[in-house]
Amino acid sequence: MIVAIDGPAGAGKSTVARALAQRLGFRYLDTGAMYRALAWLALRDGIDPVDAAALGALARANAVELGVGGTVTIAGHDVTAEIRTAQVDAVVSAVSAHPPVRAVMRDRQRELSLVVDCVMEGRDIGTVVAPQAELKVYLVADPEERVRRRLAERPTADAAALLARDASDAERMQPALDAVRLDTTGLGIDQVVERIELLARERAA
Ligand code: C5P
Repeated sequence: MIVAIDGPAGAGKSTVARALAQRLGFRYLDTGAMYRALAWLALRDGIDPVDAAALGALARANAVELGVGGTVTIAGHDVTAEIRTAQVDAVVSAVSAHPPVRAVMRDRQRELSLVVDCVMEGRDIGTVVAPQAELKVYLVADPEERVRRRLAERPTADAAALLARDASDAERMQPALDAVRLDTTGLGIDQVVERIELLARERAA
């Protein structure tokens, strides 16, 4: 079974998806971490975030590994912490916009999702990566709340940059028509997780 959790930055996707996966006993797959790892490698190697061909080749040559414990590895480096920086935030949307990059990531994400039951988090899971997902949830929250959550998580985060990244992502990522839209503004993590868990158990039955 695949549970797809999509939505903008700061809507609570990662926290909710991780907790949900634990409750259901499913694997948690963070597709944003895969794009972040590639952006980290592009920065390290001095590859221009607008160079679609070079980035596509980089993605093909360097598989991102998502460890069961939440580690993210690319090109032999554990980048789990380093992908959550302002530098990566600033380029990840541009890096992930290129069709050659998305084609590589989509194929890898599909392979991963077919092996085990999973909660897969991203932007285009319900529409592109796993349109067959048994449950699709699109999480949203007011912009002020999303910024507040991100700052609580990472005090050095830049509010304007978060909203700019969203605007840049939004052009190519829309909710699936059959997604359950859930506004998490004012809701606690447990409330959101419980609601989705209930839906998942219903669909599984
Ligand atoms: O989820 P997270 O905010 O870590 O994702 C980082 C970036 O990766 C997003 O802003 C978006 O540009 C890109 N992304 C994507 N498709 C996904 C997941 C993330 O393009 N499925």
